[in-house]
Amino acid sequence: MMSAVMLLRAGFEVDIFEQNSKAGKKILVSGNGHCNITNKNQSPEYYLLDNNQFIQGILSRFDFKKLETYLNSLGLNIFSKSDGKAYPLSYEAKSVVLIFTQTLQKLGGKIFYEHKITDINKHGLFCITCKQGLFDGYDSVIITSGGPAAPRLGGNDSGHTLARSFGHTIVPAYPVLVPLVLDFAHAKELSGVKTYAKTTLFVNNKQEMTIYGDILFTKYGISGLAILDISLYVSLAILNHQRVSLSLNLLPAFDRQTLARQIVKLCKNVPYMSIFTILSGMLSHKLASVILKTLGVDADLTASQINQKQINHISNSITNFKVQVTNTRGFEYAEAAGGGISIDEIDAKTMGSKKCKNLYFAGEVLDVVGKRGGYNFHFAFASGFLAAEGIKTINKK
Ligand SMILES: Cc1cc2nc3c(=O)[nH]c(=O)nc-3n(C[C@H](O)[C@H](O)[C@H](O)COP(=O)(O)OP(=O)(O)OC[C@H]3O[C@@H](n4cnc5c(N)ncnc54)[C@H](O)[C@@H]3O)c2cc1C
Repeated sequence: MMSAVMLLRAGFEVDIFEQNSKAGKKILVSGNGHCNITNKNQSPEYYLLDNNQFIQGILSRFDFKKLETYLNSLGLNIFSKSDGKAYPLSYEAKSVVLIFTQTLQKLGGKIFYEHKITDINKHGLFCITCKQGLFDGYDSVIITSGGPAAPRLGGNDSGHTLARSFGHTIVPAYPVLVPLVLDFAHAKELSGVKTYAKTTLFVNNKQEMTIYGDILFTKYGISGLAILDISLYVSLAILNHQRVSLSLNLLPAFDRQTLARQIVKLCKNVPYMSIFTILSGMLSHKLASVILKTLGVDADLTASQINQKQINHISNSITNFKVQVTNTRGFEYAEAAGGGISIDEIDAKTMGSKKCKNLYFAGEVLDVVGKRGGYNFHFAFASGFLAAEGIKTINKK
């Protein structure tokens, strides 16, 4: 939609093929209906790809300010929160879709809804194949079909297939920003427990990274914002058949020793109280129950009956709660897909294909994935902008 608006404004004729009956289905549900449209803090570290230069080049040509100015020119104001995340001023995702679709309509852009492209070929000009027939005579094509995440909203890998037919290499897709499945006997018991934790990721027993944030136990495993953030790395490790585990510090204000000292102190204060009740004052009672059960400590033991060794085990379990990750919840539950069309075959200035002249790509169909925080939309807008600029440059009107 970004590319189409730009090209229509520059006087080009544009047709959009959309398999769904509506445009922007992912936008509508994004950011819990608020649409985290971009982020004030932009740098390659927020994108997951080996080629920093590629993303740096794109961000230097289309940064936060440029997107904000562009959206303003369409009539959309945005605001940013203290963490940099930006949203439409209305705080409603719907306004983003409305503004783009109305602008397209006003500029005379034609949207062919419920037209799924099954093939594109080029004999001088491009020819598009849909179930409804052939659409011929296009000078340029931009493939912006997204990736396979969230198939209920239209996510699929048809763009990869189309790109492959032009000789492009596809980096295998993997789900990101996705909940994780655990091999964990107490998942059902803990389902619904949400807590702020320090989550450390281990891949093949090697410590990879630590994230602070909310985690949510679910009946299949674990979710929550910190888990979605860490899922980018988990998913890649799983794709590479590596062993993944998480260590959760469920009381991140404490390390093992300070927590043990704190529990000892509490036990001295209330020697008559059960250890379960004492722990339930520190963390969710469901977690307290599971921890005591796992350690084989009787929940009814009073503070005066508990010994130092048991306290050490309890504090170790709370600060180093280990879980094995067996999988992600897959594309069905993912917000985005990693992998896609290899960026080595894309001109970073124009998003043009290095394999086929006048063919362009933008958005999630490419092997670029952003972290949570508005980065995936920013990349989609930025690459959409550059693709339109690329077409404008070679077809000067
Ligand atoms: C639940 C959820 C929440 C999200 N929240 C955020 C957020 O707050 N911030 C953020 O930055 N990102 C968010 N994302 C990610 C973001 O939505 C995507 O990265 C972004 O939409 C990618 O844009 P795109 O234009 O490349 O692809 P898409 O938005 O997926 O658009 C591709 C379009 O192409 C159509 N299509 C696909 N194949 C064909 C075909 N063969 N023929 C015709 N049409 C086709 C699809 O129907 C779709 O309309 C979220 C995603 C989900 C699922």
